[in-house]
Amino acid sequence: METNLEKLMSALKNASGEEVGLVKKAYEFSKENHKDQKRQSGEPYFNHCFATAMNLCDLNMSGTVVAAGLLHDILEDAGIKPEMLEEKFGSDIRFIVEGVTKLGLVKYHGTDRHNESMRKLFVAMSQDIRVLIVKLCDRLHNMETLSHVQKEKQERIARETLEIYAPIAYRLGIRKLSKRLEDLSFPFVYPNEYKEIKELVKENYDKKQDMLEKFRKAVAKELGQAGVRDFTIDYRVKGLYSLYKKYLRHNKEIEKIYDLAAMRIILLKEEECYKVLGVIHSNYQPLPGRIKDYIAFPKQNGYQGLHTTVFTGDGNIVEVQIKTERMNKEAEFGIASHIAYKANSKKSRANQGLEWIKKIIPLSIIKTKTGSQENKDVPSWIRDLAAYHNENKDKDNTLNEIKNDFFNERIFVFTPKGDVIDLPAGSSAVDFAYSIHSDIGNHIGGVRINGKMRSIDTELKNGDIVEIIISKNAKPKRKWLDYAKTTFAKKQIKNSG
Ligand code: MN
Repeated sequence: METNLEKLMSALKNASGEEVGLVKKAYEFSKENHKDQKRQSGEPYFNHCFATAMNLCDLNMSGTVVAAGLLHDILEDAGIKPEMLEEKFGSDIRFIVEGVTKLGLVKYHGTDRHNESMRKLFVAMSQDIRVLIVKLCDRLHNMETLSHVQKEKQERIARETLEIYAPIAYRLGIRKLSKRLEDLSFPFVYPNEYKEIKELVKENYDKKQDMLEKFRKAVAKELGQAGVRDFTIDYRVKGLYSLYKKYLRHNKEIEKIYDLAAMRIILLKEEECYKVLGVIHSNYQPLPGRIKDYIAFPKQNGYQGLHTTVFTGDGNIVEVQIKTERMNKEAEFGIASHIAYKANSKKSRANQGLEWIKKIIPLSIIKTKTGSQENKDVPSWIRDLAAYHNENKDKDNTLNEIKNDFFNERIFVFTPKGDVIDLPAGSSAVDFAYSIHSDIGNHIGGVRINGKMRSIDTELKNGDIVEIIISKNAKPKRKWLDYAKTTFAKKQIKNSG
C-alpha cells in the first residue's frame, strides 16, 4: 500500500531536488512533533497537516510552500520556537509559517459591516501571497472535516469561510478554491436554502443531461467542419452557492439561469476563440445582450474568455464559454498559477510582531499574546491608525468608523512575485513603481497588469498583479502628476523635472 509520504511525493509536481528533501524533512518533523495530538474526529493531528500539504500540491505550489503547509501548525500547537524552525528549514519557511500562525489569531467579527475590512486586513497581514494560500488550504481541510467539530462552532466557522475566505480566494482568481469553500460552507450557514437548491438542481440537471450531450456532439462536428482541429469540449457545473445567489437575483426562477451547466470549449490559441464564437453564432441563434468578451475586457480578478448564450434549436438555452488552455488554467488557479513556478524568495523576512494589529483592531476580535515589539515594516496608514487609537481610546465607535474609512480608501495589489503593496484607492502604476523604489519610478518604460500591457495611467484595482517594465532611457514626465496619487510619487516626479 502506498504510504502518505509516497502519496505526497507523487502529488508534488513543482519542486527542485533541494525542495524535495525539504518536504521529506518537514513531513517527518511535523509527524514527530504532532504525534501526541488528535483532531476532534479522533484521528492523528498530523493528518490535517498532510491534507493541507496535499491541497497545496493540488494548486501546483512549490516544494517550499508545501513544506510550510506541513509545518503550518507547528508553532501554535506543537510548541516549536520560530528560531528552531528557521534553523532547520530556513527563513522563508519560518516567514510563511509565522504568517499563517498570525492570521489564525485574527478572530472573525461576524457583522457585514466588517467583512470587507477583514478581507483587506487578511490580505495586508499576509504580506506574501504564499501565506494566504497556505491559510486557504488549511481552511479548506478544516471545512472538509467540519462535521466533526462541535455543533455550536460549525456555523461560525462556515460563515467566516463564506464571508472572508471564499471571497479572498475568488478575488485572487482561484476559483477552484473559492467554489469548493463556498459549497462546503453553504449547508452549515443556510441549511434550508441548501436543501431547496440541491433538489432543484437535481431535477433540472438530470433533465438536461441528454440534451447537453446531444448539443456537445453537434458542436464538435460543426467545429470540425469549420477546420478547427485541437479542441476539447466539456461542461462545468455551477457551484451550488453561487447558483443560489443567482437564483435569488432572478426571483427564484431557475429556468432563467442559463449557466447552470455551461459548455466549455478549450482551444490552443486566442484567435481561434473568436473563430469558434463565429462558428457557434452561425449555427445557433444567440440571446441578445449575453455575448461577453472577457478576452478584450478581462474581469476584475483577471478572468478571461468569451461567453455567449444560444438557443440550441430544440427549445433549450445553453451558455457557451470559449477560452484557451491558458485562460482556463488561470480561471481555475488564478494568482496561484502565476506564483507556482516562482523560485524561493531571496529576502529573509523580519519577524513581524503582533502588537500593531492589536493596536488597530478592537481587542474583542483578537486573541492576545504576550510580547511587545515595535515594527518598522508596518505600513504608514496602519501606524496612523494606531496613533489615532492611542489618542482616542475611549471613543471606540469613532475608531470603527475611521478604521472602515481607512480600509475603504486603500487597495492591495501584488508584485509579480506576490508581495502585497498597499496604495491609496485610485492609484496608478506610477504610484506602484515609486512605492517599490524611486529608481523604478524614474525608469518606467511600460506596465503589465494581470499579464497584459496597459497604459501607465490605468487605475489599479484590488488584487491586480502589476509588473513595471524598466527602460534605462525612460524619464519621469510632468504629465504623470495627473495620475500620481501618493505624495511620494508626486514629490519624486517634481524633483526630477
Ligand atoms: Mn491548521
